[in-house]
Amino acid sequence: MVTVGVLALQGAVREHEAVLAGLGCHTRRVRRTDDLDGLAGLVIPGGESTAIARLARGSGLLGAVRARIDAGMPALGTCAGLILLADEVADPAALAGLPTVGGLDVTVRRNAFGGQLASGEWDVDLTVPATTDGQLASGTGTGADPTDGRMRGVFIRAPRIERVGPGVEVLAVRDGEPVAVRQGPVVACTFHPELVPDATLHRLWLAGADLHDTPSNSPVAPS
Ligand code: GLN
Repeated sequence: MVTVGVLALQGAVREHEAVLAGLGCHTRRVRRTDDLDGLAGLVIPGGESTAIARLARGSGLLGAVRARIDAGMPALGTCAGLILLADEVADPAALAGLPTVGGLDVTVRRNAFGGQLASGEWDVDLTVPATTDGQLASGTGTGADPTDGRMRGVFIRAPRIERVGPGVEVLAVRDGEPVAVRQGPVVACTFHPELVPDATLHRLWLAGADLHDTPSNSPVAPS
């Protein structure tokens, strides 16, 4: 079973752990640099990017995450996680000059749609086929596969992706705007895929990053 870390300083940690467990992954909470050792991948959850950056300040944790990503570690960043992974935040003052992770060639703007009142749920259109990998589907509970090229997006004080670099692939759009992107084994989105009973985005990340369980170590043998 692969072990996937979830950065656990602040935000939707438990919800990501539940989705990952449903997909047959072992999870580990990451709070210190040495928690990264041996991880197959890392989820950076949504929450508040300033809070996460502040809690990590001085620990070297975000820099260590970046070094792992540069060395090829797959990462999934959702909402605040996307902001932390972005190479550029459009309003730098918004992060109070705190160091982040970076590594994903996009420009994002925090709270681009306004505050809580502008938050809500909308369908997003996938621009790539959703994976229905049998082994990733071997867990229980969160395995519903979309058949219509859409998934539900929960947007909470969401950032906007204002620029997508040349090596970055768009995975999903809403109203023609990118809301999920992939750069190699790094996937990030502006919404909260851990809050819906459809694990499409986690599956896309795990499959694209080649984090498959093998039949011999899968918790449930594929039929
Ligand atoms: N607005 C938050 C931030 O700037 C992100 C919101 C979220 O993760 N739901 O970090």
